[in-house]
Amino acid sequence: MLFNHNGVLYLIFSITIYLINTKSLHKNDLTRKKLYSSHHAVNNSNAALTPNKRTRAHARNFQNNNNNNNDEVCNSQACKDVSAKISAALNTSADPCDDFYNFACGGWKKEHDIPASENEITSFTVLTKEIETAIHQLIEEPAKEGESDALVKARNFFKSCMNTQEIEKKGADPANNFIKWIGGWSICNNDEWQASESKWDKYDVLRKIQRNFYPAPPFFTVEVTNDHLNSTKHLIKIDQSGLSLQREIYSKHDDIVEDYGEYMVKVANLLGHNCPTVAEEMKEILDFERGLANITTPAEAKQAGTFRRINLTILKTVIPAFPWEQHMRGIFSNDTNVADNEVVLATSPMYLYKVANLIKRTEPRLLSKYIVWQMLRDKISFLTQEFRSARAKFNKKMTGVEDTDPRWRTCTSITNDNMGVPIGTLYVQQYFSDATKQKAIVMIEEIIQAFKTRIKGHEWIDDKTRKCVIEKTDALVAKVGYASYITKPEELNKRFCKLSIDDNKFFENNLNVDKWIRYRLFKKLRKPVDKTKWPMFPQTINAMYQFYENEIVIPAGILQPPFFYDGDVPRALSYGAIGSIIGHELTHGFDNTGRKFDKNGDIVKEWWSDEAIKEFNKRAKKFETQYSKYKVQGIHPVSGKLTLGENIADNGGTKISFDAYLDWLKKNGNKEQKLPNLENYNEKQLFFIGYAQEYCANIRQKTEYIATLSEIHAPSQFRVKGTLSNMETFSEAFQCRSTSEMNPISKHEVW
Ligand SMILES: [Zn+2]
Repeated sequence: MLFNHNGVLYLIFSITIYLINTKSLHKNDLTRKKLYSSHHAVNNSNAALTPNKRTRAHARNFQNNNNNNNDEVCNSQACKDVSAKISAALNTSADPCDDFYNFACGGWKKEHDIPASENEITSFTVLTKEIETAIHQLIEEPAKEGESDALVKARNFFKSCMNTQEIEKKGADPANNFIKWIGGWSICNNDEWQASESKWDKYDVLRKIQRNFYPAPPFFTVEVTNDHLNSTKHLIKIDQSGLSLQREIYSKHDDIVEDYGEYMVKVANLLGHNCPTVAEEMKEILDFERGLANITTPAEAKQAGTFRRINLTILKTVIPAFPWEQHMRGIFSNDTNVADNEVVLATSPMYLYKVANLIKRTEPRLLSKYIVWQMLRDKISFLTQEFRSARAKFNKKMTGVEDTDPRWRTCTSITNDNMGVPIGTLYVQQYFSDATKQKAIVMIEEIIQAFKTRIKGHEWIDDKTRKCVIEKTDALVAKVGYASYITKPEELNKRFCKLSIDDNKFFENNLNVDKWIRYRLFKKLRKPVDKTKWPMFPQTINAMYQFYENEIVIPAGILQPPFFYDGDVPRALSYGAIGSIIGHELTHGFDNTGRKFDKNGDIVKEWWSDEAIKEFNKRAKKFETQYSKYKVQGIHPVSGKLTLGENIADNGGTKISFDAYLDWLKKNGNKEQKLPNLENYNEKQLFFIGYAQEYCANIRQKTEYIATLSEIHAPSQFRVKGTLSNMETFSEAFQCRSTSEMNPISKHEVW
């Protein structure tokens, strides 16, 4: 890789990798695709969602076509409960062929107001709240005998959060101590900074924060990730970072930037900086960030792939403005022995080129202002009520979201984010059964089988490529429920032994977790990839595919209603919901990103034929066009490009699960019991209702708009409409006329 004299990038070697920048719960896990993202975007409206346009009841009653009163009806309590929930969620005055999302979720949307403290309410967030309540009870229970130290640390973390008296007593001290450690904050010409200014070295400071914390967001992050050429090994990765707001906000929403500036002033004041120039200096930071935003690579371009393998010797030749070698040697321990020709994975090399020059030419005073804010901004909520109120005021103005959660809920959520592994032990013991796990495993096997059968029917793939696709499917690893180590106290303790938690030091505990994450992340560099590691907590309501591992992860949390049903509840609902999710994750292995990774999770050489790639791209392009036509609130277009991988997964996953369900039906006498009071819906219709209802959601308008700028998942209503309008089997099940919205003439398909 080289730059020409004008700084224009061109390539002489390197394998391009296509990675996705996703929000990460564990902070250190990358290349993976989650089923669902929650929105914590900054936005500026508290307007409620405009109700969907209601369609009047249609004369044609599709239900009667399927009515068969002789069918057996399930009258167990479980069936009655499920039926009541589904009925309440439906809006039967909407025509399913016109707007199936409205039909399946119209009732739910009416019944579920967005809580004051949230950006949205969805099936995922409703269940997450329930789990939080359960976790709160578990974590407040007194420690049991023989309990792991790791769990004791989790309980102490929670206690430190609940101890608001101590937090108030300490005031701004913990934050100011942290700033002092960074090297002082250069605002207001304060004494501390004046005293250290001559010794303040920008490269030393960047090295110091990255050596101690992960994440350390100023300018770029350094982490350890899987080697895409050899998924059993690790390598260093450098990625762009360091913006307080989403990149598009700086150019499109001056009002938000201004309000954010006011919030920064308030924080600076609370930290004891009250000089007349504070407002100006905070604006200076934001102007600097705006410049940084201009040189970052947008999400769509990142999606299209801008990662390069490059060794340090070449990196320092092509980007001489930054001391890469000293930096890497400085942040890794001596025994890691970073080599001259150490290979690193660099995202957006052009960004790194520009940012290196920006750092070089910017004076220390401004750099200090920016760096301290970047290190501090996500820690404000760990401070006193005054700090939290300042943050809440900004959030309220931006999003309409209010800080109304009781302290226990806030603390449960933060504790779960930071100490989710030991908490998972309690959760699994109390709420997850081995029978559920076994049932999910059987379903996964059926869905894999259905996928393989489907592949055999796809005439657009040549035999050789098809054979490789099937091999990759056979090599897929499925992790279900939870990691085995969470039930072994000694293993948990080993994992958490370097983490120190004090039940009196909430702010410091959060810093300690960041330090501990960095320690665990960086020490992996020379070690083989641990194939047993789990990228999610067991209590998480989500699912995932990991490219490097060629594995799907289905945690215990999502194996419950309304995603997964046990007992005698019609299986159609489970196949529609969790089955589609399993199919979705499996299909990620063959989406526009996943198809480049081979069965081991490596990108070594192209394993697809040219013709198959051409046909794949042609088909993918049709999805892109289809989804680009969708608009939220009728004005903000969805990015078909950004959401492509997820849309391929949604479409493929639902079709595969439907096939698997038909296979199951065949083996089980071709029918199921019906749901009481929903006897008019046959099993195929229930499958689609099960699918659609997992995406029922209400979202604040501004949040919904902002999500279109960077969110890789299509908005909920289009996950339903986009997928089902491409399915002939859907239109058959609901007998949709050929001109209806849900039954367009041209239907698109990759898998
Ligand atoms: Zn996905």
